[in-house]
Amino acid sequence: MLRAVFSDFVGTLITKEGENVTHQNIVREVLRKAEREDLDYLRVWEEYEAESSALFKGLAGKPYVKIRDIDTEAMRRVAGRYGFTVPEDFWEISVAMHEKYGKLFDDAFETIKALKDLGLHVGIITDSDNDYIEAHLKALGIYDLFDSITTSEDAGYYKPHPRPFQLALEKAGVEASEALYVGDNPAKDCVGAKSVGMMNVLLDPNGAKRELWGNCDFIVSKLSEVVEIAKGLLEK
Ligand code: CA
Repeated sequence: MLRAVFSDFVGTLITKEGENVTHQNIVREVLRKAEREDLDYLRVWEEYEAESSALFKGLAGKPYVKIRDIDTEAMRRVAGRYGFTVPEDFWEISVAMHEKYGKLFDDAFETIKALKDLGLHVGIITDSDNDYIEAHLKALGIYDLFDSITTSEDAGYYKPHPRPFQLALEKAGVEASEALYVGDNPAKDCVGAKSVGMMNVLLDPNGAKRELWGNCDFIVSKLSEVVEIAKGLLEK
């Protein structure tokens, strides 16, 4: 029987669009502090995203290194091209902008509440630094809703390594077969959950990831659909 539902964070609880606006504002603040507002922030942002995603791609399933260091390195690489210096407080800027601009999916709050009302343990499993996720969830007003939060920093590995999933199960005191994981990245979320025997749901609003559905047990276009899946699994 189902006893716990865990969720990814970026792209599952908060929107990618909000994340883009957040990152654009990080770049704007960096350029302001570096006195380089002459530069096109959108172009610098695109380069920052490209550097950052290239660095993170290489870290999938690998031992954890601080995301603050990865993001700072990505910004430094771009800054080097334009000849400016990344502010000392880059990470503080980053966390502050996430607090200010992060945006929940419209149905995220009601979905979390509905899952809790079913008597389930509701947790997060995320590739995050601890200070970032805590500040971000508090700013969104949902920190206290979660029974557990498991980060790559806690687990020592990035998804899809099994360790973050195993640690979350240990925190909740449930078996893998009693848990459901919801994410938006088939290669990290479906594969990682499946590797420890957890059922999983892929949030794929436009069906854009259809070719990668093979490792996913359920596909939904809205987060709120997870409530019906959970109800079905509770009856089993
Ligand atoms: Ca995600």
